[in-house]
Amino acid sequence: MLKVENVTKYYDDNLAVDNLSFTINPGEIFGLLGVNGAGKTTTFRMIMNLLTPTEGKISLNNQEIDYKLTEKIGFLTEERSLLTKLTVKEQVIYYATLKGMAEENILEKLDYWLARFGVSEYKDRKIKELSKGNQQKIQFITAIIHEPDLLVLDEPFTGLDPINVELFMNVIREFKEKGKMILFSSHRMEHVELFCEKLVILKKGKTVLSGSLKEIKQNYQKKTIRINADVDINDLKKIKGVTEAFKENLDIIVKIANKEYIEDVFKVVKKSSNVTKFVVEDASLNEIFLNTVGEEYEK
Ligand code: ATP
Repeated sequence: MLKVENVTKYYDDNLAVDNLSFTINPGEIFGLLGVNGAGKTTTFRMIMNLLTPTEGKISLNNQEIDYKLTEKIGFLTEERSLLTKLTVKEQVIYYATLKGMAEENILEKLDYWLARFGVSEYKDRKIKELSKGNQQKIQFITAIIHEPDLLVLDEPFTGLDPINVELFMNVIREFKEKGKMILFSSHRMEHVELFCEKLVILKKGKTVLSGSLKEIKQNYQKKTIRINADVDINDLKKIKGVTEAFKENLDIIVKIANKEYIEDVFKVVKKSSNVTKFVVEDASLNEIFLNTVGEEYEK
């Protein structure tokens, strides 16, 4: 289990992370979200023992994080720190040896992962000759080759095409099945929504929302109703509790302040003709994120 307890980090006078707490259990995928500068990378660096918290404690499997424990962690950093003059094979051997693996074992695993990611032919090519997406695959391989207990992935899907996003997601899901812990950040809420179970949203280092994705969505009051009917949008706008009503392709979208107003909207729609759709949806994580972190995200 990864336990982050009341962690605060200052860079001189600048408060980067403020009293952050969360836990990740084996087999859980956890999202750390926030706009630029929210404190995600700082948190990752503290977990990887590259920075020391000003206050608070971080432990992995009941042991306080220190250099030795980092062998149990695999990470994909935001800076994509590859040694570009090395070949793929040299690179992976270098990192995996640091994590305590024997060369024979590294080579066997490397062949498996290169084939899995469809990049076997690049094994003896220099990193700098590879495309960005393929470099990212190699970095991902260096993060997972030693089968760490905890996988820390800072923006793992940035720059990947949809096929490769799926490939990365499948591997991450497999790690989950094996009981590994996965901590990741992403600015793409649709990726988070696809496979993350628990999350924290940070704003200027402070936790503004935390919990399971399911609970967060259920507890979020605002709902969306998707309607297909010959109904006047202005009649819908007049209903108390309706915050927005607009047309989106063939549907009419009505946003309501909370579920109490579903009935009132239904009464108006019922009177119209050709009602073929009336679907109440929870807010998307993107909507919740925007409402929680405020207008700063939209700048
Ligand atoms: P991004 O999405 O842009 O990567 P982030 O959520 O990872 O952002 P951090 O990089 O952790 O955010 O930054 C949190 C705060 O700490 C910001 O105010 C940033 O300016 C500050 N900060 C980060 N690194 C340093 C550093 N080395 N020295 C001083 N301040 C720093």
